[in-house]
Amino acid sequence: MIGIFGGTFDPIHYGHLRSALEVKHIFGLTEVRLIPSYQPPHRDKPHGSVGNRLHMLRLAIEGQNGFKIDTREIDRQGVSFMVDTLASLRQEFPSQSLLLFIGGDAFNKLTTWHQWQRLFDLSHVVVMTRPGSPIGQLDDYLVAKQVSDRQELSQNLVGKLYFQPITQLAISATAIRTMFAEQFSPRFLLPDAVIAYIRQHKLYETL
Ligand code: ATP
Repeated sequence: MIGIFGGTFDPIHYGHLRSALEVKHIFGLTEVRLIPSYQPPHRDKPHGSVGNRLHMLRLAIEGQNGFKIDTREIDRQGVSFMVDTLASLRQEFPSQSLLLFIGGDAFNKLTTWHQWQRLFDLSHVVVMTRPGSPIGQLDDYLVAKQVSDRQELSQNLVGKLYFQPITQLAISATAIRTMFAEQFSPRFLLPDAVIAYIRQHKLYETL
């Protein structure tokens, strides 16, 4: 099974890294693909350039077994729709289960994503929830996809929705960018090597 973790990673932080590591272990994934978006739908252009965001990802995952950076959204350019990314992964890995991981915040907006129902024709969707916090009312289409047995993800290639509680660190890239702009140290929220890179290249000096 291959895990897919998309994001802007502007910058990558321990909230992303810790959850990617936990799901890799919980689901016994052969790899987790971190996929930086080129132009995320529904949001402004990222602050960090593609080159800087990629470089920070490389620094952050150095030495971590099973984490891979996948540049297909950057290579494709244009608006980074997840459905296109999954279609291309499905072609590359026709016989593997794909698990698309999304945070609870992103899941709440899933039904606004481009061709969102098609996501389930291409992969499973695993929502990383905060332990103890309930999920809101689900769309009927989603109710029909939901499974409560993790085994169903390995037994099927696509089409299931699963909720997985994980440790959630209250860290956001937005808050980190603000700290840099206000010259308040973000240490211990993201890897030191990434902090050093941001300082060296004077990223996020203004909001
Ligand atoms: P921003 O503050 O710029 O919106 P972000 O920190 O939310 O950024 P993204 O790159 O937009 O990061 O998020 C990518 C994915 O990581 C999404 O699925 C999101 O739900 C998840 N995510 C973000 N922050 C955390 C966190 N602290 N813990 C677990 N998952 C997270």
